[in-house]
Amino acid sequence: MRERHRAANKDAKEAMPKTTDSCSECGPLSCYRKDKTPPTFCLTEAADPQEAAAVVEHLQGDNLDARMARAAAEIEGMYYCKATRAEEIVLFAKRIGAKRIGVATCRGLIQEARTFVKVLRAKGLEAFTVVCKIGSVDKTEIGVPEEVKIEKGSYEAMCNPILQAKVLNAQSTELNVLVGLCVGHDSLFIKYSEAPVTTLVTKDRVLAHNPVAALYETHSYYRRLLDPEQDPEKKS
Ligand code: SF4
Repeated sequence: MRERHRAANKDAKEAMPKTTDSCSECGPLSCYRKDKTPPTFCLTEAADPQEAAAVVEHLQGDNLDARMARAAAEIEGMYYCKATRAEEIVLFAKRIGAKRIGVATCRGLIQEARTFVKVLRAKGLEAFTVVCKIGSVDKTEIGVPEEVKIEKGSYEAMCNPILQAKVLNAQSTELNVLVGLCVGHDSLFIKYSEAPVTTLVTKDRVLAHNPVAALYETHSYYRRLLDPEQDPEKKS
């Protein structure tokens, strides 16, 4: 399926004209209930019918992707606005038959990770945790300048999401859960994890791990997010 998917993706990329209009510019969002007229640039209408049909066919089977897709949709429908995300993860793990759960946590969220491990065990699941600093490699060893360490001049281990994923792979975890990995470290973890990955906590050090709060406030306190002149990396 993966190879077929990649090839189809390439064809779809070539077939689809480049445009800046996409789902973020869509008013009716009619793909959900098909009760409104879609926009002229609708990506549902533009999708390669063969590619779209192949995805549906793939998800009608009994492979892991299919079981995950059904489990996620069933949990959404059955526990809509009832189950918390932590509870949804337990439900999801059970529905896809994952018993051994990997917890890839940030060191800064180890208390929350410990609590989550208790939740998993209380619900009859196995838990195995790996903290982000595993390997204890100083940041300078991969070329990070000493002056951009949080505490300059001290030994400061880098986050090591590749090793974090490999340790969980070696433990044969069946579902890995992210607890507050940094932006980018999460990308690397997901890239190297053999088990499917879901997120319990999305790190935002400023907003108590609630990154969407900044988006709610772009009309006011977080107006700077929409100001091209306010770029912390821009040389003055
Ligand atoms: S797929 Fe079409 S209808 Fe759905 S959000 Fe995108 S543009 Fe709108």
